[in-house]
Amino acid sequence: MTPLDPPQAAGRAGRTAPTLRYDLDREEFGALLADEPSYRLDQVWDGIHARGTELDDLSNVPKALRQRLAEMLPLGLTPETESVSDGGETVKWLWKLHDGHHIETVLMHYDDRTTVCVSSQAGCAMGCGFCATGQSGFDRHLSVGEIVEQVVRARRTSAPRRVSNIVFMGMGEPFANYDRTWSAVERIHRDLGLGARHITISTVGVVPGIERLAEEALPVNLAVSLHAANDDLRDELVPINRQYPLNHLVDACERYLAAKNRRISFEWALIDGVNDQPVDAQELAVLCRRLRAHVNLIPLNPTPGYLTRGTPPDRVREFRDQLEHCGVNATVRHTRGTEIDAACGQLRASRQLVDPPRRRTRS
Ligand code: SAH
Ligand code: SF4
Repeated sequence: MTPLDPPQAAGRAGRTAPTLRYDLDREEFGALLADEPSYRLDQVWDGIHARGTELDDLSNVPKALRQRLAEMLPLGLTPETESVSDGGETVKWLWKLHDGHHIETVLMHYDDRTTVCVSSQAGCAMGCGFCATGQSGFDRHLSVGEIVEQVVRARRTSAPRRVSNIVFMGMGEPFANYDRTWSAVERIHRDLGLGARHITISTVGVVPGIERLAEEALPVNLAVSLHAANDDLRDELVPINRQYPLNHLVDACERYLAAKNRRISFEWALIDGVNDQPVDAQELAVLCRRLRAHVNLIPLNPTPGYLTRGTPPDRVREFRDQLEHCGVNATVRHTRGTEIDAACGQLRASRQLVDPPRRRTRS
């Protein structure tokens, strides 16, 4: 656990949390099938993971066993709403968890790839004011199974189009829930068969998480949500910067680069008149050149709790040109699903106030 894992939320979700269908690893699952013929584990495990079949549809497995497993290992996600936009190319789910909290998952089809954006926590304790998840506060960490199940279920909907990429850019800060997020990454890679190089973890800059990631064997991608390249502005936009200021963050990125030799991306939500001036591009370019980083520019999406608007499109292009002029690669991220509040930073924006009372403590 990182120092940011709220102790009261350790464990799956408190002592009474059920063990969910995708919480167990293969060995633990095998223990439940100890009295069955040995091929049964392959049938069930590969069926509900690699093939993504519903347990109840595994016709080669006896019905009584399917029923017993379904009772012992309930699913963790109940769909509350499924919204579709961009002519069917974007699908967002609002899921209800077993304890009444909510999370969201987004499936996005592009010409050359299909991406699932998963949540790692219900809510987020990091308090970035421009983000709808941050505006709603923190509920709890997700279990491994709650993360893996998001991918399994999105993949089922995606078929016959194959999910090629997973991004941890939904609700929550993955490195504040490091152990479960990482176990989920390993399961997604090994059991669901998605290559680690197609998995991206986005962090707001939780330095111990970057340090741990540098030690991991699987070569996943790292994205850092930077948004400001000087401490005064970053303290304001991203409050965790007060705990892990830019020089610590950049040092950690440098060590990550030295250990992995994998390109880091910086996420930069362009906020009108706040971080979209030539001086901002120059400061960002200095960091990017030092770290050989790529920049993803995201025009700020509207959220209920933040009045300042996103940078208009012509000035987004100008900002990108300024970066490129300084020798930095920058991409403008196409906004997806704004009308269903599925775009970056909008998750939770449409939630009704139906969650159980929230814990007060944030750390
Ligand atoms: N907590 C992690 C993972 C969530 S990713 C992180 O912050 O990196 C969500 C991405 O959307 C982050 O890059 C975040 O900074 C960005 N974002 C948040 N609110 C946004 C908004 N209103 N408009 C555009 N991007 C936003
Ligand atoms: Fe949390 Fe990321 Fe939103 Fe900040 S931007 S509040 S870290 S989800």
